[in-house]
Order: sequence, then C-alpha cells, then structure tokens
Amino acid sequence: MKILVTGGAGYVGSTCTAVLCEQGHDVTVVDNLSTGSREAVAEKARFIEGDAGEMADEILSSGDFDGVIHFAARSLVGESEEVPDQYWRDNLGTTLKILNAMHAHDVKNLVFSSTAATYGEPETIPITEDAPTNPTNAYGATKLSIDYAIASYARAYGLGATSLRYFNVAGAYGSVGENRRIETHLIPLVLQVALGHRDKILIFGDDWDTPDGTCIRDYIHIRDLADAHLLALETNKPGVHRIFNLGSGEGYSVKEVIEACRRHTGHPIPAEVAPRRAGDPAKLVASSEKIKKELGWNPTRTDIDTIVKDAWNFTKNLGDRAYSAGQR
Ligand code: UDP
Repeated sequence: MKILVTGGAGYVGSTCTAVLCEQGHDVTVVDNLSTGSREAVAEKARFIEGDAGEMADEILSSGDFDGVIHFAARSLVGESEEVPDQYWRDNLGTTLKILNAMHAHDVKNLVFSSTAATYGEPETIPITEDAPTNPTNAYGATKLSIDYAIASYARAYGLGATSLRYFNVAGAYGSVGENRRIETHLIPLVLQVALGHRDKILIFGDDWDTPDGTCIRDYIHIRDLADAHLLALETNKPGVHRIFNLGSGEGYSVKEVIEACRRHTGHPIPAEVAPRRAGDPAKLVASSEKIKKELGWNPTRTDIDTIVKDAWNFTKNLGDRAYSAGQR
C-alpha cells in the first residue's frame, strides 16, 4: 500500500514507519521535527519536513495514496492545560485539514493515533471502549473531539477509519525508542538513573489505594502497538469508524516497574517517595479484548521484563545522542 504517515519522526510514528517499510509498503513521512528526529525515520521512507496540516493537500494530490496514519500531534498533558490554544490548533485544526485533504483526493483509509486520556478518570477497570469519555485535560479533549469529526466524515463521505486509544506505550524496536528532549515518562526516566544521567527516580505517591501503594498502569510494547496500526489499516471499511483500546491488559505498579529496571540494568536505581502528581488516577488498565476479537491482534511482548529489556538495550546504546546526557 502507498501510505502517508504524519508525525512519522516521533517515537510511535517512526516505529510504525519502520514496520510498514519492512513489510514492503511505500511510505511517505511528513513531520515538522518539533519533537521527532530525522534519524528516527526509516531509510526506505520518503521524508518531507513540514506541517502535516499545511502539506496534506499537496502531498495527497501528488499521488495515488491508499491511506493515512495520522500521528502528528502535541501530547503533553500538563502543557495542554497551559496552552490549550496550541493543542486545539495543532491537534484538532491540523486533523481537520488532513481530513479535508483526504476527502478532496478521495483517500478513504485512516488510522488515527488516540489516547486513553479520552476516558478521563475510569469508573470501572479494565476500561472498555464503551466506557464514558470525560477527559480531564485539554489533550484528551482534543483527541476525543477528533473522533467526533472522523465519525461524521465516515458517515457523510465514506471514510473508513480506526481510532486507536493507547495506554502507556513503552519499550523499543530496533533503533527506535524513547529519547525526548523533555522526558516525563516513568520507564525512560528510571533508565536515565541507570545511565547515571539522574541521581534518583521520584515515586509520585506511595499512599494510593493499590496493593503496594503506588500507581498501576498498563504498559504496551511499541512493536505490538505498531502491529495494531497495520491491522487497522488493512481492515478499514469505507463508511465505518471503529475505536479500539490498546493496552496489554496487565497492570504494573510504579514500584514493580522500578524493580524490573533494577533487574535488567543491574543498577540499584535509588528511588524517593514524592508527593502525588496532579491528575494521576490510581489505576489505569485497558481491556483490549475488542481488537483481539475483531482484528485478531495478538500482542506478544506484554510482560514488563520484555518491555524494560528492549527499552534498556536501546537506551544504553544512545551514548552522546541521549538528550539526558549531562543532566542530573
Ligand atoms: N511516575 C512516577 N515518577 C516519575 C514519572 C512517573 O512515579 O518520575 C508515575 C506516574 O505518577 C504514573 C506512572 O509513573 O503513575 C506512569 O507515568 P507516565 O508519566 O509514564 O505515564 P502516564 O500514566 O502519566 O501516561
């Protein structure tokens, strides 16, 4: 298939691009490199530097694209509450431009990168796709609003689309992994301690209503996540908008994640309990039964040890390319 990948230089987008290329697809990546990096894009992919919304019409007009996987977005929860205008512009605004370009050039196959943040504080665990959607931040709200737009384009214009709502994406695949200029996620931060780039990891609260008192999250391996995107692309049907959760169905506590990192790095990883982080729910675990049943998705890297091992192999090989180098 000939696929346009927006945001294909970021962590998730570049992994999907690599897998698409490996499987023989013809991939064009558009990315403004605001957070992604050019080196992360598979060599076989065509690369266009620029704003996905501004460029979508021109790119899609130039060839017979079969589909679009849309990752390009802002995705920091805290930042979205500080500068919501930028989130509505870059997430909803950009997606509307892409949807209009797809409609104008008769491209009817879309996979959209969405998030568990569309649900907000869950009422029941594990979270299924029919759970209430009450996002607690602007980031989640922009992603939820896009689903409404996609659904109406599907009904009116025959778009075939799938929104994939990710839980905690982690791990690495080949030369692609987490190496952000600004890092807030647990596993890469813990591994920065093992690298010696940080003195300790802060545990945000150990008095939660969970067995060991620390928050529980559902970590999904980036390679399993990439498989789900390909399956969605291959099975989209004109006029139908589907929503699937993507997690591993397993919950691990912050302490369990730190322990796994100690096992795989051999580093003692000092940890210190700090106050709770605003907006954190105690427990987030997805039900991914729907995508397993309907698309036959079969995640094979669901245990925390595989995820941490792959993340560590990537992180320790970064050397000077690690953005955290020199930080303490
Ligand atoms: N967390 C932590 N210390 C950190 C970063 C994260 O204790 O330095 C906790 C955080 O409170 C949450 C879990 O680790 O319970 C996963 O957080 P992350 O930011 O990786 O993902 P999120 O669940 O917010 O999407």
